[in-house]
Amino acid sequence: MIRRDLGECVTSSTAFKIVPLGVGDAFSELYYSSGFWLEYDGCRVLVDCAHPIRKSMREASIQSGCDINVSSLDAVILTHLHADHASGLEGLGFYAYYVARKSVTLLAHEDVMRDIWPRHLEAVMAPVCDPPEEQRQFDDFFKSQVMAEDVKNSFGPFLIECRRTLHHVPTFALRITAGERVFGYSADTSFDESLIDWLSQADVFAHETNGGSHTPYEKLAALPEAVRAKMRLIHYPDNFNKAESVITPLEQGELIVL
Ligand SMILES: [Zn+2]
Repeated sequence: MIRRDLGECVTSSTAFKIVPLGVGDAFSELYYSSGFWLEYDGCRVLVDCAHPIRKSMREASIQSGCDINVSSLDAVILTHLHADHASGLEGLGFYAYYVARKSVTLLAHEDVMRDIWPRHLEAVMAPVCDPPEEQRQFDDFFKSQVMAEDVKNSFGPFLIECRRTLHHVPTFALRITAGERVFGYSADTSFDESLIDWLSQADVFAHETNGGSHTPYEKLAALPEAVRAKMRLIHYPDNFNKAESVITPLEQGELIVL
């Protein structure tokens, strides 16, 4: 396998592998927060990055048999900045900087990207002990690639489309194409039939379900069978009845091959 900066990756492996690192919500005491590890053609990316990211990666690696670790990671695609989707960026950035000695690319829509450093990370990642007058910058830890809506954003072998969802903060659902296969992810959203139509063009897509302003399970369970067959549930509450769900729930650490 040959790996280059900025996600140019070449290898003979062409299976599109998807591993949920976590399936839970922000309040879960059973699961890690929702997020994915994706592999295709020698390129490896995270979709979202919640704390404790290295522990969830290690456990998913053992369970799935995939080599999931920071050393082989090329990028993080961020849907939004709520803690259960982005709280692992600080630890990942420091680990990559001090231990792995590499720079991870962050991909996000401009409305997410603009807040990552000044409103999410700068207060805790910029200070330097010695000399204290120095300040670290975003570029010391990460590279950035801004994604636009309505286009296929290219990273390595992946083509990534993003679409705004109905959520408290700027949040973007994803369709990620690898070769001939497409994986979709709703990210966090209220029930939105137009978003589900968009995601249904994928081969398989993960959709969140939860209470409050999230998408009620009952709305998803009432969708046509053909849509439900492509859908997998994620971001479900700890008391979600997986055994009686008419839509397959994702399991932490399972390997999906498209
Ligand atoms: Zn959220």
